[in-house]
Amino acid sequence: MVTLTGTLLQPRSPAQCDIVPGATVTIGEDGKIATVGTDPPGGGDGCWILPGFVDAHLHLPQWDCRGLDGMSLADWRQKVAYPAETRLHDAELAERLADDFVTGMIANGTTTVAAFGSPFPAATDRAFGVFEKRGLRAVHGMMLNDMNVPDELIVSADEALDRSRSLAAKWHDKGDGRLQYALCPRMATCCSEELLRGVAELAETTGSHVLTHAAVSEAEESAVRDVYPDLLDDVELLAETGLLTRRTLLGHGVCLSEPLRHQVAEAKAAVVHCPTANLFLELGLMDYVAEREADIPLALGSSIAAGPEPFMPQVAVACLQTAKAIKVHAVPRGSFTPPRPAEGWWLLTRGATEALDLGDRVGTLEPGYEADCLVVRPEAWIADLPPEQQVSALLYTLRPQHIEHVYIAGRRVGP
Ligand SMILES: [Zn+2]
Repeated sequence: MVTLTGTLLQPRSPAQCDIVPGATVTIGEDGKIATVGTDPPGGGDGCWILPGFVDAHLHLPQWDCRGLDGMSLADWRQKVAYPAETRLHDAELAERLADDFVTGMIANGTTTVAAFGSPFPAATDRAFGVFEKRGLRAVHGMMLNDMNVPDELIVSADEALDRSRSLAAKWHDKGDGRLQYALCPRMATCCSEELLRGVAELAETTGSHVLTHAAVSEAEESAVRDVYPDLLDDVELLAETGLLTRRTLLGHGVCLSEPLRHQVAEAKAAVVHCPTANLFLELGLMDYVAEREADIPLALGSSIAAGPEPFMPQVAVACLQTAKAIKVHAVPRGSFTPPRPAEGWWLLTRGATEALDLGDRVGTLEPGYEADCLVVRPEAWIADLPPEQQVSALLYTLRPQHIEHVYIAGRRVGP
């Protein structure tokens, strides 16, 4: 039995984030939260207990390529993204990188990732082995693309589907349910219709998530029309090939029109907002408020390394700031209320696990849920603020160095 004491931060809804001083959380031998309460009052000595963070869109192969600014998206792909994947045909290197990646995630308080891999089955297998050993909760899979990428990265549709099927059989729902296999078609321009239809079928039979990119930027949408002249955009292609489902996570979603927002919402597909990457690569400003009003399930992604920042509270801050930028730059100036800090916490935790269809297991610190949580020691003055201001100040000022313990499924995994 593990006992944690401190101030509990409990996101309840996009509008409400509770602060419970003097809380005690106990974790049972089964890795689940046994009790949460304030009777007797817990001490905690300046510590806070938070649900672990979810990073719902990032690329494992790019972990050691962060912060390489000054390129267009096309250039960045050629010079950074593709070489980062190509080197991982070396499975030993892939395993070492996966280990560094897990260390980095834990140091940043991220307990769940939805991460793309490289197109190499051995590298993907090694990464799962590392996740299993070190305890990370991961939705992960091999990158799928059969055209319009460098030759070294191309895998034919048949082979990609075969390899994905074996990897899913080995890893899906393993590690006491912490590991989920994901089918990862890179994006519309790099995937044949045959591959996409095969992915949809395999997703249905395995129950796997589908991670992909959609509506990334206006330029990308026009590239989609070059490859698929009969289609208007990648969302239409995903819908036609059976890939717009509630297990699909669409990365970026920057330029979804009003009708497309409704189509995505109706399919219950999630959009992963990557505000730091959208600015880093000048993709555009995603209208978070419009997507939320359309009822699209939303999560946040660091989009490593298209985004430079792995610490998810700072990605949430960028989400808030992007909404403000859209508001102040609209002509006339927008009148909507941008998302508040409570919504940032929601998106980092329970909101994200609901979007990932893991909301019945993790994302909140309540009895019966698996104990994915952090013990942090933020700056002491925050505790003297009124609760609503604590919610805000903590989101803006928390840093990785404040993290003292990280638990996933009740096991201490670091830092
Ligand atoms: Zn991405």
